Amino acid sequence: MTSTKPSARVAPLSADLLASSLFRAAVEQADIAISITDARAVIEYVNPAFTRTTGYSAAEAVGRNQSILSNKTTPPDVYQAMWRQITACETWHGRLVNCRRDGSRYLADLTVTPVLDETGGISHFLGLHRDVTELHGLECAVRNQKALIESVVDSAPLVMALLSLEDRVALDNQAYKALMADLGMQEPAPVLLEAVRDQLGSGFGPFRPGAYAFVEQQVRLDCPLWHSPRWYACSGVWVAADRSDADAFYEARSEPYLLLVANDVTRQTVEQEKARVAALQAVMTEEVRQQSLRESLAAAAYQIEGPLNVIDSVVTLMGRRGCDPAQAALTEALRAGQAAVEALKSALPPPPPQRSTSVNLNEVVRDVLDLSAYACLNAGVTVTWQPQLVLLMLTGAPTRLRILLKALVDNAIEAMNTKGWRQRELTITSRTSDGSIVIDVADSGPGLDTTLRLRAFEPFFTTKKGRGQHLGTGLASAQQIAVEHGGGIELLEAPGGGCLARVSLPLRRQA
Ligand code: FAD
Repeated sequence: MTSTKPSARVAPLSADLLASSLFRAAVEQADIAISITDARAVIEYVNPAFTRTTGYSAAEAVGRNQSILSNKTTPPDVYQAMWRQITACETWHGRLVNCRRDGSRYLADLTVTPVLDETGGISHFLGLHRDVTELHGLECAVRNQKALIESVVDSAPLVMALLSLEDRVALDNQAYKALMADLGMQEPAPVLLEAVRDQLGSGFGPFRPGAYAFVEQQVRLDCPLWHSPRWYACSGVWVAADRSDADAFYEARSEPYLLLVANDVTRQTVEQEKARVAALQAVMTEEVRQQSLRESLAAAAYQIEGPLNVIDSVVTLMGRRGCDPAQAALTEALRAGQAAVEALKSALPPPPPQRSTSVNLNEVVRDVLDLSAYACLNAGVTVTWQPQLVLLMLTGAPTRLRILLKALVDNAIEAMNTKGWRQRELTITSRTSDGSIVIDVADSGPGLDTTLRLRAFEPFFTTKKGRGQHLGTGLASAQQIAVEHGGGIELLEAPGGGCLARVSLPLRRQA
């Protein structure tokens, strides 16, 4: 392999300098093979380093063409290029396969410079060369090793990327590139690292070459382009890379890099997820049953309280007029009624205690969609789920949040599931906005009138027909849960005219 570089025209050698003994001593003692030839490459002078490198003494070399060193394996076009360049008065630099006097071969790194006479014509050539066989061997070994490492890293089924401290990707492998293509050309590393940082809270382990920055952190990716989520077990290892600039030559300086390795554990996780959703189904059914019971009893107490208030007013009125016998009977009825209401209220099962944990709202929405899959199918509702790729974790009660979202999804399905209603599309999106996680549940139903949007949150308010089955407490309970989490729900008009329920839950709650 050769390389050439043009150089400026060479100035003629001064006769005084040539004759100078200092100049001669310097050339004689130089530790690089030097030869001076005539314009046809016939050798006129060689120094001792030339003899050491080639095995030819000065007496053997002088008078012969430089081609005595040719092993006849260097391609002819290399020589042609060399001669074209040096006869154009330019310096040539390249590598040739040379043969020593004893027949052994070596790789010569050669520079040939034309020497010009006073008229500007070429009188001589100056050849400088060194044996770079060993260096070439090392270069090849490094290249081979790099190719080997690259092929191993590329064939590994793990997503790998080497990242600078600013999360800039310095190196990646095929699996990383494939994931990036799957994400619609979005760089996966910053997304995975943000999720890991969020999970760790305390930041990565300290920089020490070879030490783990984090180990096996499971990250869930919900890409709108995918049918289902994927899970990656992510580990990060600190790597110190030597700097290659001149300043770092004598003073070893290295820069910290992070090797991110992400293992796709979707297949294993999906099995666990199936079992979890099945268990969840049972828990939710029980939770919803208890919730309905609480709401029915609350509704009964509410409905009895109305007539009791009337009786109370009548008793007060009669007391003023002095109608004693009837008043006594009514007072007794009132007392019995109030006791019945108290009994009903005390029969309300208390809501189950909820432990606050880190919750991934994408996962909660996905659970709710899994739980509502049958209802959607039954009502012919098509679901579009557009999650943010990775949502930061929220501190909350997962079951309560599932009830909240299930109430919104159930409302949306029911709103569209009316006879003759054609548009049946449920669109759910998740995103982070101003420190909150926002979930939009939009339907393509008839929508809610502006005045009804606020009333819809009142307990026992319902626009649904067949009031017996609908207590009208779903939205009130959902709002209650949102408030428990420091957030709220608002009802808006969906782009298609239907109803859009927007849930906003702050990531950090006000103390
Ligand atoms: P050659 O017949 O010598 O020539 C090969 C090609 O070079 C031909 O295409 C021919 O057109 C062209 N060529 C040859 N001589 C001239 C010329 N005078 N003018 C224009 N074109 C010409 N070769 C090595 O193998 N190893 C060395 O270490 C080495 N060191 C050299 C140092 C100097 C200072 C110079 C000037 C030349 C050196 N050469 C070296 C090149 C050498 O002179 C031969 O050209 C080369 O070895 C090829 O030899 P050959 O007998 O195979 O072919």
